[in-house]
Amino acid sequence: MTRQFAVVGNPIEHSRSPELHHAFAKATGIDLNYSNRLAPLDGFAANIQEFFNQGGTGLNVTVPFKEQAYQLCDVLTPRAQVARAVNTLWQQDGKLYGDNTDGQGLVDALNALGWKLEQANVLILGAGGATRGVMLPLAQAGASQIVVANRTLSRAQQLVEDVQPFITTTTLSAIRLDQLSGQFDLIINATSASLSGEALQLPPELHFQQAYEMAYGKPSSFLDQAAQRGVPISDGFSMLVGQAIEAFSIWNGVKPALEDFLSLKS
Ligand code: NDP
Repeated sequence: MTRQFAVVGNPIEHSRSPELHHAFAKATGIDLNYSNRLAPLDGFAANIQEFFNQGGTGLNVTVPFKEQAYQLCDVLTPRAQVARAVNTLWQQDGKLYGDNTDGQGLVDALNALGWKLEQANVLILGAGGATRGVMLPLAQAGASQIVVANRTLSRAQQLVEDVQPFITTTTLSAIRLDQLSGQFDLIINATSASLSGEALQLPPELHFQQAYEMAYGKPSSFLDQAAQRGVPISDGFSMLVGQAIEAFSIWNGVKPALEDFLSLKS
């Protein structure tokens, strides 16, 4: 029987998830249908209940419902607990399970680029939901230090304080975004500055070997500045593919190779 999946959000029509999941299904020979689901802003819980009542197997959750999904779950994975947001739902024994696959998606994307996380010194710009979602997987992948830099310092400090109990092997700290300096293996832009067309300034006293921009499909002054320094760069399309593959593997028990789907970008 065809397994039913969907991504639920508002708005939802521009989601690339159906295209990605159908490509994974074709590559792995799994019979599934994956659709877009528009939930009313005040009707998320009823919408997902209807999906599972009708025999749906798994749901991805996107803006603005990831925190609501987290609140509704009966069982959360550790990385969803740290993220305080859920992007992958399924039902088991009458219970609603939730995971957050964004962080593992990023780790898999970095691995596909050949960028090493073992003992890496990582700087993340931004302290919003995306940063919270990637902290535990980056630490578990071996990062020795993660510095979170944010325009609003208190938000970065709070994030570090919240995440610290879950992470023992990685040194965490918070700094102000306008006080960037030092030497890092990897810098990740997890601000939404690129989405709003605003420019981030990377000062000369900040040094890094690789630069990853979580946003994709938009011009990025962050990536422009990194490219001018001659370091390897990447936008966030590979993370999008990575988080989708991780959700697909949770539901279907098979994990397609991320590298095989990067050509879907254009
Ligand atoms: P949030 O709204 O939760 O957080 C936004 C962050 O950006 C905050 O730290 C905010 O700082 C900072 N910020 C916003 N504008 C500026 C600016 N002009 N200058 C400096 N800092 C700024 O967003 P998310 O964490 O959910 O998303 C962040 C980015 O990650 C987005 O570009 C999103 O598209 C991308 N993303 C990509 C994914 C992928 O699969 N590739 C998955 C998830 C997210 P402050 O706290 O001071 O307001």
